[in-house]
Amino acid sequence: MDHFIYRQGRLHAEDVPVAEIAAAVGTPFYVYSTATLLRHYALFEEALEGSDHLICYAVKAASNQAILTTLARAGAGMDVVSLGEYLRARAAGVPGEIIVFSGVGKTADEIRTALSGGIRQFNVESEPEMEVVNAVALDMGKVAPVAFRVNPDVDARTHAKISTGKAENKFGIPIARAREVYARAASLPGLEVIGIDMHIGSQLTDLEPFRLAYEKLAELAEVLRADGHDIRRLDLGGGLGIPYARSNETPPLPHEYGAMIRRVLGHLGCEIVIEPGRLIVGNAGLMVTRTIYVKQGEGRDFVIVDAAMNDLLRPAMYDAHHDIVPVEEPAPGAAEHAYDIVGPVCETGDTFARARVMAPVSAGDLLAFRGAGAYGAVMASEYNTRPLIPEVMVKGDQFAVIRRRPSFDEILKRDTIPEWL
Ligand SMILES: *Cc1c(COP(=O)(O)O)cnc(C)c1O
Repeated sequence: MDHFIYRQGRLHAEDVPVAEIAAAVGTPFYVYSTATLLRHYALFEEALEGSDHLICYAVKAASNQAILTTLARAGAGMDVVSLGEYLRARAAGVPGEIIVFSGVGKTADEIRTALSGGIRQFNVESEPEMEVVNAVALDMGKVAPVAFRVNPDVDARTHAKISTGKAENKFGIPIARAREVYARAASLPGLEVIGIDMHIGSQLTDLEPFRLAYEKLAELAEVLRADGHDIRRLDLGGGLGIPYARSNETPPLPHEYGAMIRRVLGHLGCEIVIEPGRLIVGNAGLMVTRTIYVKQGEGRDFVIVDAAMNDLLRPAMYDAHHDIVPVEEPAPGAAEHAYDIVGPVCETGDTFARARVMAPVSAGDLLAFRGAGAYGAVMASEYNTRPLIPEVMVKGDQFAVIRRRPSFDEILKRDTIPEWL
C-alpha cells in the first residue's frame, strides 16, 4: 500500500497534488511519501514483534538525509556499505550501536572510522578482511564485533545482477569454510565473534530461497555453537521484493516473511537483524516527468519524456518494469494506445518501457513512475550533463525539496582546468 492516489482526477502524494509539486520544482523529480515510509517500516516491526530484533534499513536503497532522519526517528538501525553511508547514518542521528557495516571491500580507513564512531557489527566478507579488521582494532586498542557473511549457495531466483547468494557470486565466505574461518577469528584478540550474517539477493518474490538459506544458517549456527562460539545474533540481510507491476505481482508480505523467520530460526534464541531497503522505500517514491514530444514512428509511437536513464537507471540496468501513470487521471473507458516511453539520452538503452498500453499521452502531460523510491535517486548520474534531479518529501499537506537541482554553473565549476594546459 502507498499514499499516491487519485483524488478528483489528480494524482496526489498524500494530500499534495503532484502537479503542484511539478509546478513548484520543475520536472523531472523524485517525490517520497513520509506516511508510506513509516508504514513499511512499521510492517517489519510488526512482523518481528515479540522476538529480539533490530531492523537496519539498507541505506543504499535511498540515502537522502530526510529519509534517513524519518526512519531514524522511528527507531530504525541502519545497514551501511561505505564510509559515506556510515557518515550519512550518523548525521541523521543514528547511534553507532545500531549501525551494521556490510560490503565486500571495506578499507582500513572505513573500518577505523566506524570503530571510533561506534558500530554494532562488521559483516566480514573474506579472510583478508578479517585480518585487516583485527589489525585495525588492535592498533586502536579496541575489540571489533564481527559476524561473517556466509554464502549459502542458494539461487535467489531474481535478476542476475542482484543475485548474491550463489557460490559463484563475489559475496561472503563459502558456507563450507565457515568453521575454519570462525576458528581463526576466535584466535584473533582484536575480534569478538557475535554471530552470522547472510544476504542472498534483492527483489526476491518468493520465500523459498530465503527459507532454504535460513535453514542452512540454522544448521551452521548449531555447528558453530558446538565448536564453542557464542553465536547470539543472526543478520538475515534484506531482499524482500515489491510489486512493481501491480496488476500481476504478489510478492510475500513482511508478516509472512517474519513468520517464516520464526519458524526456521526461532528455536536458536538469537537476536534477529534484518536489512530491508527496497521494501521500505521502493513504493514510497515516484519519479515524475513531463512529456516533451509524442512522435509517430513506423509501427510504434514514442513518448519522449524529460527524464532519462541517468535519472532512473533501473530499466536500462535490470530490465526493470515500472508502472507509469498519468498525473491527470484519464477519463474512465478512454481508448488505450501502445507507446514506447523513452528519454532524450543518445542511447537505445534509454528506454523506460516498450509497447506500454495507456491512455493517450500528449506533449506537456505529466507522467509518474511508480515504485521509483528504491535504487532511483541514489543511482542517478549527470550523464549528458543532465543535472541530478531534485528529491521532494511530502508529509500530509506539506512538501519540501530535500535535495535541490544543481545549477549548470555549479556543475561546470566542479571541473578544473590544469594550470599547465
Ligand atoms: C542491498 C543490500 C540490502 C538491501 O536489499 P533490499 O533488496 O533493498 O532489501 C541489505 N543488505 C545488504 C548486505 C545489501 O547489500
